[in-house]
Amino acid sequence: MESRLSLLSTIEKMGDYDPNSMPVEKARQFIQQFLTPVTEHESISLCDSLHRTLATDVHSPMNVPPHDYSAMDGYAVRHDDLANAPNQLTVIGSAFAGRAFNGHVATGECVRIMTGALIPEGCDSVVMQEHVQVTGSSVEIGDGHRRGQNIRLVGEDIAQNTTVLARGQIIRPAEMGLLASLGFSNINVYRKLKVALFSTGDELQQPGTPLAPGKIYNSNRYSLLGMLGELGVEIIDMGTIRDDKASLKEALLDAASRTDVIITSGGVSVGEADYIKQLLTEIGEVVFWKIAMKPGKPLAYGKIGTCHFFGLPGNPVAVMVTFQQFVRDALRVLMGQQPKLTIEFQAICTSSIRKVPGRTEFQRGILSQDKNGGWTVHTTGAQCSGILSSMSKANCYIVLPVSQGNVEVGYTVQVQPFLN
Ligand code: AMP
Ligand code: MG
Repeated sequence: MESRLSLLSTIEKMGDYDPNSMPVEKARQFIQQFLTPVTEHESISLCDSLHRTLATDVHSPMNVPPHDYSAMDGYAVRHDDLANAPNQLTVIGSAFAGRAFNGHVATGECVRIMTGALIPEGCDSVVMQEHVQVTGSSVEIGDGHRRGQNIRLVGEDIAQNTTVLARGQIIRPAEMGLLASLGFSNINVYRKLKVALFSTGDELQQPGTPLAPGKIYNSNRYSLLGMLGELGVEIIDMGTIRDDKASLKEALLDAASRTDVIITSGGVSVGEADYIKQLLTEIGEVVFWKIAMKPGKPLAYGKIGTCHFFGLPGNPVAVMVTFQQFVRDALRVLMGQQPKLTIEFQAICTSSIRKVPGRTEFQRGILSQDKNGGWTVHTTGAQCSGILSSMSKANCYIVLPVSQGNVEVGYTVQVQPFLN
């Protein structure tokens, strides 16, 4: 009941609210207001931490590197011994990575050293082996060497007691390695977000069997499974639900009782919206929008109890675009992550594009660099929201703003590269 009040009262406060022409940015901002990140956390093995979200700041318990190490294969020397070239030094031993030289190096002496080996006591520089003449157990070294050269200094990567990673940091391969370099085998992360997923449509058939007359394969289930998989949420895959009020109601109530978010595809376009609208009004509070964008016009958002509901359009391209433009960032916030930078830049368009002002368009584009390093982009061809091959061919969106009209060859356009 509380969520019902808050959604409706929020809309009442919006002066120029028009559900039939909702600007992209306004829809995003509206959704943002209702997103409360998960707070429960758990300790997990670093091995399983990819895509998870740090629930606490991480402070370094140690210096990395923990000691001074050689950055080269060569000879560990005392720089004071290199004042009068040619300098003759006696090799008194060897130091390997993981096997230190245990002894003190005195004036006139040096130690054969490998990359990653501890710098022997008494030495302060490493001379690369390519700069040394070896004769028996002595070496000759010329001048031009700097004190401290070729040494990875203690703490130069990370100093002890500094904040290395902040709460909300997503764990990527680099963070997995970084945390391991600090000795962590377990880390504290927010619990996984539980996301229920189902498609609606009596025309849908699962791939793997010959297609029956009048049916199409359910592709949205798979593109959504893929996009959710990249985020590292716990997916509750409910398959396809029939276009029937009782089945839909049962599926929605079941999902709402055990997940954080429900994502559906299909059934929110004009022809079908009415009975779904009625159903969702009975069991929760959901707003239906026509977003001023192409593709992806119909979109429903709301709450069923404490569970968030995203009703995405059925068209295969529209479902991907709306997921990427509205759902992905919302899920990131719910997962406790810090907002991610949207990478967008300008490119010269080498296709002409017909466009009517009035809505944002996400055309599928192929971005490439010309021989001078400048970026050019052309469309993948036909842009209907059912042409899923356009998403596979594309490596970016060409984002045409609301006010934009036709694009001629040579115009500068905004592109959003696909980063995963
Ligand atoms: P709807 O939004 O339910 O009216 O669907 C719009 C269009 O998308 C129709 O042509 C549907 O057949 C198609 N569609 C809906 N759901 C899916 C799906 N899961 N996979 C592939 N196409 C779909
Ligand atoms: Mg349908």
